[in-house]
Amino acid sequence: MKASKMLIATMKETPTEAQISSHILLLRAGMIRKLVAGVYNYLPLGLRVLNKVENIIREEMDKAGALEILSSAMQPKELWVESGRWQKYGPELMRFKDRKDNEFCLGPTHEEIFTDLVRNEVKSKKNLPLNIYQIQTKYRDEVRPRFGLMRGREFIMKDAYSFDTSVEGLDASYKNMYDTYCRIFDRLHLNYKIVLADTGAIGGTGSHQFMAISDVGESDIIYCSCGYAADQEKASSLCDTYKNDEEMKEKEEVLTPNQKSIEEVSTFLNCSPKDVLKSIVYIDMSREDKNVPVMVIVRGDRSINEIKVVNALNIAEHELRLATEKEILEIGSVEGFVGPIGVKDVVILVDEEASKMKNVVVGGSKKDTHIRNVNYGRDFEGQIGQFRNAEEGDICPVCGKKLSLERGIEVGQIFKLGTKYSAPMHCEFQDDDGKVKPMVMGCYGIGVTRTMSSIIEQYHDEYGIKWPLNVAPYHAVVVPVSYQDECQKEAAENIYKQLMNNKVEVVLDDRNAKPGFKFKDWELIGIPYMIIVGRRANEGICELKNRQTLQKQELTFEQAVKVIVDEVKSLS
Ligand code: ATP
Ligand code: MG
Repeated sequence: MKASKMLIATMKETPTEAQISSHILLLRAGMIRKLVAGVYNYLPLGLRVLNKVENIIREEMDKAGALEILSSAMQPKELWVESGRWQKYGPELMRFKDRKDNEFCLGPTHEEIFTDLVRNEVKSKKNLPLNIYQIQTKYRDEVRPRFGLMRGREFIMKDAYSFDTSVEGLDASYKNMYDTYCRIFDRLHLNYKIVLADTGAIGGTGSHQFMAISDVGESDIIYCSCGYAADQEKASSLCDTYKNDEEMKEKEEVLTPNQKSIEEVSTFLNCSPKDVLKSIVYIDMSREDKNVPVMVIVRGDRSINEIKVVNALNIAEHELRLATEKEILEIGSVEGFVGPIGVKDVVILVDEEASKMKNVVVGGSKKDTHIRNVNYGRDFEGQIGQFRNAEEGDICPVCGKKLSLERGIEVGQIFKLGTKYSAPMHCEFQDDDGKVKPMVMGCYGIGVTRTMSSIIEQYHDEYGIKWPLNVAPYHAVVVPVSYQDECQKEAAENIYKQLMNNKVEVVLDDRNAKPGFKFKDWELIGIPYMIIVGRRANEGICELKNRQTLQKQELTFEQAVKVIVDEVKSLS
């Protein structure tokens, strides 16, 4: 490809809309352009990368025995009603009507569609197990679309669904996908961790997430040297034993005028924030007849994990919100002084750690009041569980050593669905005993466009993107320092042809521009190899620059060509 014929849409300045490296570089390198919030156009260079990422995923899925199909983004309401998700899914689901008033959504995921397909097409046990997948556009009306391709409202996902006749069969299908995902992310050169995960809106009995390690990731990974690793939403840690062994003291009301936050109260009472319990009131909006207030209690220095709360209540994430000042008054308490004693009509969830502590401080549920020496069991009760976030230094639930914390980008997730969709939707088979049984399902997603950004997060420097060779938009670029110079022009064109003849995807920079300008463009775009043809062209010498290492070598034309051809050959 000649550079003069390409759409090279590089930008010098950092676009104001972008904060993280991958977003900035995708825009600056001219790979994507924003259409509206969370929706992007892919320009030629970006699309080449996307296609390569997709093809690696496709090759590994095919090798694993999965069958590719393509389904529509447009999904009829009826199927979602059958699975029970039309009501449950919440405002992320983009819903619309056709001219006849039939209702539809744009698929955020495809469990319903694949379950429907298989129940219609597969009648015999002989066709099972089956794993079908697609690489297709998904829609989610995210509250905060951001970070470019990381969290879009339109994005590309590879989603696969497995259908088995038994739980053991599902285990094998799940293991197959787990191993396939490892091969995919290895081939994409990502540094990733596999963690235990919550099953969220998809549901099911077990799940893992694949997390690309990155400080800009939106997920917290809790892990231990023993191998335990979990997403924050799923992570557990052993309870701290702080204040577990004290003798119970007489409870005592104390005046705490205007002291509302944990920090203010502990300073005022001259104790540690750990001695105070944090009580937060939420509203469970899942019931049609009434809103149910829920008080969640954790140790003062801890933070609440709302997903754990949602799971304990068995409701969807969007069905939980913080209570208003008025709603707090209605349970007999006062904002800033909320505590579990003397309140009414409220479900109380107590973090296990907080329940074991003796002589703690809680809000007095009266203005300017707290209560000291409060003890769970004696002074208040509730449903005990883990509602706190695990933190760096907490105790590993498996081996007892200290846990560490790292940020990650969720690039993939796999789920054991069991019969969550097949039972209500009657996706069934006839077993050997003559009985009709629901198929046992798994589902497996990779965020293709998010994965593309994650590669950039792990492969970039101050000059731009450093694509690994197998996903780079082109393998190499030949840059004559002056295309006007006949000798350089001829040499560059020869090298270009030789590379093309050897199946190297190569660009010839035939633009009439300053060499520095050209070099900057290719470094920003992240082409792995640059052959610079300059003043020693007449001696048959060029420079080969490696984008990963930034090292330059003077080589003969033949040597430079051979280095690149050999590297490209080793990809296949
Ligand atoms: P998140 O927790 O980040 O919102 P999720 O758990 O809801 O993601 P899944 O339903 O597991 O997402 O979807 C499968 C994969 O699709 C995710 O692992 C992720 O890589 C990708 N993905 C999900 N939402 C988005 C999005 N808004 N933009 C880009 N990729 C996404
Ligand atoms: Mg997920």
